Amino acid sequence: MITFHQKPDADAMGSGLGLYNFLIQFGHRVTVISPTNWAGFLSWMPGAKKVIDFEMQNQKALAALKDAQWLFCLDFNVLSRTRKMEIPLTELNCTKILIDHHQQPQVEMFDYGESDTTKSSTAEMVYDFIVNSGNADKITTSVAECLYAGVMTDTGSFRFNSTSADVHRMVAALKDKGLNHSQIHENLFDNFLENRFRFFGNILLNRMEIFYEYNTALIAIPQQDLIKYNVKTGDTEGLVNFPLSIKGIKLAAVVIDRGDERKSSFRSKGGFDVNTFARKYFNGGGHFNAAGGKNSEPLEEVVKKFKEAIEENKEALNSKQS
Ligand code: 5GP
Ligand code: MN
Repeated sequence: MITFHQKPDADAMGSGLGLYNFLIQFGHRVTVISPTNWAGFLSWMPGAKKVIDFEMQNQKALAALKDAQWLFCLDFNVLSRTRKMEIPLTELNCTKILIDHHQQPQVEMFDYGESDTTKSSTAEMVYDFIVNSGNADKITTSVAECLYAGVMTDTGSFRFNSTSADVHRMVAALKDKGLNHSQIHENLFDNFLENRFRFFGNILLNRMEIFYEYNTALIAIPQQDLIKYNVKTGDTEGLVNFPLSIKGIKLAAVVIDRGDERKSSFRSKGGFDVNTFARKYFNGGGHFNAAGGKNSEPLEEVVKKFKEAIEENKEALNSKQS
């Protein structure tokens, strides 16, 4: 069994399906379960059609979980990141293996694992796992495509600091296995519908607030905007990067009212630690420069909380290093 975090991104889905396409070559019976649905631009991945959606195919997922002997948990490290799967996973009595690159893992929940925050992506860790097990020959084009999608997106197309020489060596090795990387970029980035851009235009015009005295930008999105522009899972990905590219902005945040909860995304440049920020104020976590969280309070309350939080962090947001 392979699972990853809710609303999987390309690293979660790519590392999961990369591992899936590797393991099936040994004759293992492998099932991939996603805690929730996922963005349409991930559905090209080899094996994606076989992924079970825990919410939509609940009985099938529970039956498969009951059968599991080994469970791989990829790209998350606290079971609450699997939403409604948290309880079934906690109760599951099988060998649990963690492969993840986020901070502060819930170590007591796993039997084995690797947790390495210096790694660019979980896809890179799955690649290392395959190579270090002496099975580099089993990296098929399917495995390569899935792992490339993960490492490319989690490094911001090889832009972030986490893009080590090893990452480039990995990509070179994947190219040697027949990877068509341009096709992957096209699959992931050139498959949006018009409505997403109309939505972005509206949001950037009407919902973005800049707090220059804190080097901070905030986008707060009411649920009515999501309905008006028919926004689907994955459509909001990347939105937080727009305010972050404004000169001088060190912290960018997007808070979206998803109805059942207020979901936030935080990105920073330089020395401002959004993992700690998200943990302290927004029940979340993630990485030093990219984190997220969730709140049950109404949107206005979360915005108020955010404004108080930046006031509390004014010094760090104004420091030369950050
Ligand atoms: P995103 O803003 O793309 O949703 O998430 C950015 C990073 O923060 C990802 O690495 C993700 O795993 C982490 N993250 C997002 N939301 C949460 C959350 O609610 N809890 C925790 N612990 N991490 C989160
Ligand atoms: Mn990741």
